[in-house]
Amino acid sequence: MRAVSYQRGNQRGYGVAVGDLIADSSATLGDRYDDLDAIVHAGAFAELYDAGATAETFAVDEVRLLPPIVGPRIFCIGVNYRSHREEMGRDASDHPTVFVRFPSSLVGHAEPLVRPHASDRFDYEGELAVVIGRPGRRIPREYALEHVAGYSCFNDGSIRDYQRHTSQFTAGKNFDRSGSFGPWLVTADEIDDPSALTLTTRLNGEVMQHSTTDLLIFDVPEIIAYLSEFTELRPGDIIATGTPGGVGVARDPAVFMRPGDTIEVEISDVGLLCNEIAQE
Ligand code: ZN
Repeated sequence: MRAVSYQRGNQRGYGVAVGDLIADSSATLGDRYDDLDAIVHAGAFAELYDAGATAETFAVDEVRLLPPIVGPRIFCIGVNYRSHREEMGRDASDHPTVFVRFPSSLVGHAEPLVRPHASDRFDYEGELAVVIGRPGRRIPREYALEHVAGYSCFNDGSIRDYQRHTSQFTAGKNFDRSGSFGPWLVTADEIDDPSALTLTTRLNGEVMQHSTTDLLIFDVPEIIAYLSEFTELRPGDIIATGTPGGVGVARDPAVFMRPGDTIEVEISDVGLLCNEIAQE
C-alpha cells in the first residue's frame, strides 16, 4: 500500500494512492487520526486501507503531495556506500556516520527545492528512507525489520560549501526546503528485503547515481541496531540511509543543481520522487 499525505486547497488529508488516484481515507478516519503520523503510531494501516477502499478519490494532480511523515526526528547516515566514500575521499569507519535534518529542510514530491541566496553549490543525494513503525531500544539486527513501518524516496539535498565549513554537517544539510521526501510511504509488507532495491538519481533526465541497496556499508538492520543503542526509536522516526557515488560535487567538472533543473530519485518497488529547483 502507498500511504500519502496531501493538501487539497486549504484542506490537509491522508489516504491511499492507487495508480493516478488518491483515495481519501481521512474523510472517515479523520476523527480518530489527525494525520499519517497518527496512523503509523497506531499501526492502523489496515484501517487506512479499508477506509480508502470505499472513499472518494481525487486525481493525484489535483492535490499537493506533502512529505508522508513530518518527523520531528530525521536521522541521516553519511558516506554509507563505498562508491560515495571513495569519491569524497573519506576513510573507512567501523561505525555509521550519523547526522540529523530538521523537518523544515524538507519538501514533498513535486514541490520546488530551493537553492539559497548563500550558495550555488546545491547538490543532490538520492537515498532510500526508512520510517519506523514500532518503538524499540537496543533492537537486535535480526528483529530490526519488524520495527519498520515502510519505505520512501529521499533527496538529502546538500549545500556543499556550508557542509564543509567545519567538521559538522548540520548547516549544509539543513537549509530550508533543500531536501525532499516522498512521494508516499510504501508499507513494509510490500518490501521483502530493503537490500534488494535499485536506486537511480536523474538530473534533467540524465542518470547521475545508480546503485543497488545491497551495496550499503551499514544495511537497514545494522543502522536500526546502532541508532536504537543510543535512543529509543519511535514511530514516525525517519532514517535516510545514505547516498551512492555520483554526487555532483565529486564530478569533474562539478555539477550543481540550478534553477529550472529537474531532479528525480527513483527506487524500484518504492516510487519516483521528482522536484524542480527554484531560486530563493
Ligand atoms: Zn546523504
